[in-house]
Amino acid sequence: MASDRITQLDEKTIGHIAAGEVVERPAQVVKELVENSLDAKSSHVEIEIERGGFDLIMISDNGTGIDQADLPLALDRHATSKLSKASDLASIGTLGFRGEALASIGMVSELTVSSRPTGAEGRSIVMKDGDKGKIEPCGMAEGTRIEVKNLFSNQPARLAFQRRPATDAHALSHHRVGFRLKSDGKIILDVPATKDMEDRLYDVLGQQAGKMIDLNPPPSDAQAPGDETWTGWISTPDITRGKGDDIHVLINGRPVAAQPFLQAIRRGYRTRLMQGRHPVAVLKLELPATEVDVNVHPTKREVRLRNSWRVLERLERAIAHTLESTPTEPESSGPITGITSLAPASAEPVLKFH
Ligand code: ADP
Ligand code: MG
Repeated sequence: MASDRITQLDEKTIGHIAAGEVVERPAQVVKELVENSLDAKSSHVEIEIERGGFDLIMISDNGTGIDQADLPLALDRHATSKLSKASDLASIGTLGFRGEALASIGMVSELTVSSRPTGAEGRSIVMKDGDKGKIEPCGMAEGTRIEVKNLFSNQPARLAFQRRPATDAHALSHHRVGFRLKSDGKIILDVPATKDMEDRLYDVLGQQAGKMIDLNPPPSDAQAPGDETWTGWISTPDITRGKGDDIHVLINGRPVAAQPFLQAIRRGYRTRLMQGRHPVAVLKLELPATEVDVNVHPTKREVRLRNSWRVLERLERAIAHTLESTPTEPESSGPITGITSLAPASAEPVLKFH
């Protein structure tokens, strides 16, 4: 019974509260696990989900693995190999850093972490509804395998999920890593590791990649103040979408929400976009880690930039210059109605859940 006296919450309750912020829906679980695999320098990541991730999410990678001695710690809150002191927060080079994902997932599911670092034996540990089991030997290839079963089954109703997991964005940000995503037995994304980013662009965006043009900032921007650079691809103005879902923004390799960039992007297109339409774009911002604060959002979807105005203006100029220096196609070659048939892979939400 609630009383009006203040008491310190127990660890488990604290964990449940924290878990609600980190993993609200299956897509966020997938995102966290994929980011762990990328941080572990994997060159291949396999993802399998069943029933939108609520029944099963399984991720296996061929990365560095987790030492047997560290396995139980990996499941604790605020236990991480990516950060050791507060000052490290100023220059985060990994996608994860808070040490909260596995602990949170283990609070709201039946989580099995199995890992085999190079030259070691495979070991696994289970965490169910916040309780850790014992370490057991397991046969497996080098790397890490994470299994999440019955996600949120111990929770009050959770948001059904609206989007496919952010795998596209990760595939676009890490072209040297191969990805395979299976949903209810069906392969949804299967892209081999490649040295050439343009290959990856074709593999993820499909046909529409042919309509993308290289971002080409004005030469004068090389002398502009600031250490940031924008590269990437934008669609010609005849390729548009009703929503900004096909705008991927990657900051130092981290996929972030495109929303804060939409206005600058539209301005860069000048009058070329119809009202309410958005282009397709993959925009990569590289800047010193000290210019970005990644620790501002529970799911790290948003970051804070020290010089956001300057960065946005640079983006706008880069887009404007790209379009000015690209001859536009005659009207007849690109019927605007063709846009809805673009990129069958991402045109419909693959992880629909009823
Ligand atoms: P964070 O990524 O913020 O460190 P997590 O809870 O996601 O926190 O993971 C905790 C720790 O477990 C990581 O710091 C890492 O050392 C280890 N880990 C998790 N997933 C993997 C993986 N796929 N490969 C290797 N190590 C992993
Ligand atoms: Mg992590």
